[in-house]
Amino acid sequence: MKVMKFGGTSVGKAERMHQVAELITRDDEPKIVVLSALSGTTNALVEISNGLSNRDRNFSKHAIDKLEQHYKQFISTLLKTEEAQQKALKMISEHFEFLNIILKISFSEALNKDILAQGELMSTKLFSAYLTEVGIDHELLPALEFMQIDAYEEPLIGNIRVKLTQQIKHHQDKKIFVTQGYICRNSKGEVDNLKRGGSDYSASLIAAAVNAEVCEIWTDIDGMHNNDPRMVDKTVAVEQMSFDEAAELAYFGAKILHPASIWPAQHYNIPVKLLNTMEPSAKGTLIVEDAGSVGVKAVAAKDGIVAIKIKSSRMLLAYGFLRKVFEVFEKYRTSIDMITTSEVAVSLTIDNKENLADIIQELEAFGTVEVDENQTIVSVVGNQIVQTPQVMMRLFDAIDNIPVRMVSYGGSKHNVSLLIPAEYKTKTLQALNKGLFNL
Ligand code: ASP
Ligand code: MG
Repeated sequence: MKVMKFGGTSVGKAERMHQVAELITRDDEPKIVVLSALSGTTNALVEISNGLSNRDRNFSKHAIDKLEQHYKQFISTLLKTEEAQQKALKMISEHFEFLNIILKISFSEALNKDILAQGELMSTKLFSAYLTEVGIDHELLPALEFMQIDAYEEPLIGNIRVKLTQQIKHHQDKKIFVTQGYICRNSKGEVDNLKRGGSDYSASLIAAAVNAEVCEIWTDIDGMHNNDPRMVDKTVAVEQMSFDEAAELAYFGAKILHPASIWPAQHYNIPVKLLNTMEPSAKGTLIVEDAGSVGVKAVAAKDGIVAIKIKSSRMLLAYGFLRKVFEVFEKYRTSIDMITTSEVAVSLTIDNKENLADIIQELEAFGTVEVDENQTIVSVVGNQIVQTPQVMMRLFDAIDNIPVRMVSYGGSKHNVSLLIPAEYKTKTLQALNKGLFNL
């Protein structure tokens, strides 16, 4: 079995969806095809939901109508026959009726999740309608019947496995299964989701659940690049990297893969391939246990970082100080990304500002607290970076003119992280592209 996941841009236009149908029928292997919503849809649904929660029903109504028009248009190019089009129009009108009914109900978090689920429900039904029209045998599997998270929003992989294999067994004659990414049920049995960009996570959970031989993530770029193509002129795709490297890159800003999607693949040892729908013959990036080569693979940047420095002479020779500091972050369920210490101060970074004011207030009990918002973490990721000759020298040479605020190395063998003010991001990425990759 293999898993093939297609993102929003890969299904966002009718001709792209046609191409996806081609890609999934290139071989005879049994496969589970995981789809995102058409590009732009989830954003539109978020707006509809926001309108509702702000009691701006007119705004939501307008956004619903606009989205419906978009789908009508989409269907007219996706499908050929009048019959297939009529059927698809009826199907989407049910989803838009549902959205219009929701407009009359008062907003709740559960309702929000119902709204957000419509995108993947529609994309998979439309794709299935197309497959049917062109005579490609397949089965649509409802993700809401097997994808499950617990009360801490962690996926219940055992349950997913049992339910999914049962469903597949019911259709032993089928070779192509189509299902929704992103959506799931929570511990209360309500419709929920795996957070924005979560279709990758769905795909890797599904791959783990069925012990797939590969989990292919099809997007609109030919793999993980050595640097951010939006920020630097010349970047190249990385051929192979380890799960550890991919996890660091995905977490520290490489937008191509949802960070959570690495662990199921790593834990169940399922190779992940990042491939390009627009250029299917490109090699892409293979992510496996083995890094494949030594040295720096890529740099990535993560914005929206807050740096917090706690300075206290009481920290001098004191034990238990860090524990107290960490407990504050634990209390507010805020995870720490980078940390460096000196004898009298500790600097750390967070990316979740939700409880910043409370956190600062509690930290002030331990010493002076300084906070800097608008910071960026630039991560240099690779295999045995520090042991590779000259890498550190070239790295620090390259960033000679950048006011680096923190440096973190040693937490993992695969990563050197730099904290810089956000306005230096492009400059830093460009300097590293030259210094580390000669690009
Ligand atoms: N449609 C969802 C989103 O836009 C999930 C995904 O595409 O991965 O976030
Ligand atoms: Mg995505």
